[in-house]
Amino acid sequence: MDNRIVKLLLVEDDEDDYILAMDYLQEIPDFTFEIKWLSDYQSIVEILQQESFDLCLLDYQLGAHTGLSVLEAAKAMGCDTPFIMLTGQVDEVLDAKALALGAEDFLVKSEINSVRFIRAIRYALARKELENERLERLRIESDSRAKDRFLAHLSHELRTPLTSIIGYTDLLLSRAELDAIKPELSIINSNSQHLLALLNEVLDLSKIRENSLSLNKDTFLLSPFLADLQSLFNMAAAKKGLSFKINSKERLPESIFSDSTRLKQVLINTIYNAIKFTESGQVSVDLRYQQQAEKGLLFFSVVDTGIGIPKDKLKRIFKPFEQVQEVTTRTEEGAGLGLAISASLIELLGGELKVESVLGVGSTFTFSIDTGLKRPNLVPLILAPPLAGQEKEASRPMKLNGQVLVVEDVPEIRTLLCNIISATGVTVTSVADGQQGLALLTGKQHHFDLVFMDLHMPVMGGRDVVVAARNQGLELPIVALTAAALKGSEETLQALGFNRVLTKPIDTAQLQACLAHFLHPQASVSSLASNNEQSGKSGKKILLVEDDDDARELMCMLLKSLGAEVYCAASIQSCLALYSQVDALDLVILDLMLPDGSGLDAATQIRAQNSEQNLAIISGYEPEPEQLVSLGIAHVLLKPVSLSDLSALLT
Ligand code: ADP
Repeated sequence: MDNRIVKLLLVEDDEDDYILAMDYLQEIPDFTFEIKWLSDYQSIVEILQQESFDLCLLDYQLGAHTGLSVLEAAKAMGCDTPFIMLTGQVDEVLDAKALALGAEDFLVKSEINSVRFIRAIRYALARKELENERLERLRIESDSRAKDRFLAHLSHELRTPLTSIIGYTDLLLSRAELDAIKPELSIINSNSQHLLALLNEVLDLSKIRENSLSLNKDTFLLSPFLADLQSLFNMAAAKKGLSFKINSKERLPESIFSDSTRLKQVLINTIYNAIKFTESGQVSVDLRYQQQAEKGLLFFSVVDTGIGIPKDKLKRIFKPFEQVQEVTTRTEEGAGLGLAISASLIELLGGELKVESVLGVGSTFTFSIDTGLKRPNLVPLILAPPLAGQEKEASRPMKLNGQVLVVEDVPEIRTLLCNIISATGVTVTSVADGQQGLALLTGKQHHFDLVFMDLHMPVMGGRDVVVAARNQGLELPIVALTAAALKGSEETLQALGFNRVLTKPIDTAQLQACLAHFLHPQASVSSLASNNEQSGKSGKKILLVEDDDDARELMCMLLKSLGAEVYCAASIQSCLALYSQVDALDLVILDLMLPDGSGLDAATQIRAQNSEQNLAIISGYEPEPEQLVSLGIAHVLLKPVSLSDLSALLT
């Protein structure tokens, strides 16, 4: 065993005792003592102030002073050196006093050659080590908290100006008289969208580096998960004339226990790349299951017939910011972070992301994940085939009237549904889980004509929501969104209270037919009329609290364009002043970071005055869900806030 070097302060005014102590210390195995010998009170106090020692052996007798006065001085200055007090004879009163002043131990000098002396030193050092470890842990925790705070701020600071850039260009893009400069506006818009995606990627990467990215594992059905992906990419592949298929020759686990959001992120990234870098042929995702002793592994291969990757670049593409094409000659967007993030995520999910590629022939990205279940139920993979003519159907305008609520936890699918539905002129509100959906349906503001409800969601599944809604006497039509593989259970779902069942992948034509069945057609189809109609419908009184001038002005304009009466404030103080002056506000929208405190502080004060007040938060980062629940805040808009976000908020 290596000798441990111990920095020791020996406080002793008797030279003979000093030499004796030195001799014994040198005989103790495993330690090498670096000894500093002092005997006068003043220099002892001074050195304790300036230096930290691993241990101090402190003689009780010190001329005009005693060891106790050294202990007192050390305690007063918060010194972290451990002390062992040495005296000429046993004295219990002294012993108690020394311990009360923080000494680790109290020994009689005659014990200096005993095992007890060695043990006392070992214990004192071990305690110091534990204390150091504890302090180091605290320091790391506080560093990581500081970093989290920094990232939250950075994210907020970047998202706030992005709100203005994206929002204003959106607004300008919708104005017919600006047709001549639309190409330039589109460039600004798509670049800011790119910046936003990059910001999200950098935040992810930073969390991965910090080991602070936590997985959210749950058991989920594989078939609907894959069906969502199939419907997500059908259109993009078809647009490039590529075929896209997710398939498996073998039986696969019916469910797996993993983080579906992160797994989806990896699959979206690799499939998106495959489509991006392929000009003809096909892209496919092949799945395979392998039982290994106590572990079940699910293998994914994303195969394309695209441009391929040169051999010497294969390893590097998993490094952040690495791209095969020279930046100056590249036409495709992307920062080269996707694969670096994907590789780390797959590692967290219990596998490894690998690539094989032949230049000009194609690439295959392969990874496995731990299914988290020892003996899963194996079933054949059934996905509904992509529907021919989906694009044609989607582009045929059909104008309808009404308010639709979409309850779906997967953001991409939620957006897809909202896009298809809102293209018919219907106003859509969307939420990410059943609990929020039920809260909207049973809340005072409820005025929905139709609901689309996913069945598998993290907080309250669709089945529970429909049962609760029907128990409360709600009669509006609710359509279940489910996987093709579960088709057989249609009657069960109807018995629970669903009016209809739509299967995933989402078929646009079916969805439109369903909308047409439950909603009324629009009287006028001009977009101006539909805007006016929207304005007429809103007429809401809103207090908007945002300190960034540009963002406030933009949101105010957007809210007004939706027909709202808007009051603006830039701080908590002016918010509360306005709140007491304006009666019957339908909604208070609070920025999270305000110059005189957090939007949540403002929410707390408003809640104290009015427990019914409808509140929403806008923020550059996700606030703690517990805080939102305790303040009864149902809506959080992540910056940049778009017109459709605000419109959904007003419905
Ligand atoms: P990016 O956002 O640039 O696409 P990624 O990390 O996802 O970043 O990919 C890094 C690089 O790897 C890409 O820029 C591209 O050069 C290369 N690459 C990734 N997937 C493929 C693929 N399927 N075919 C060819 N090249 C690919």
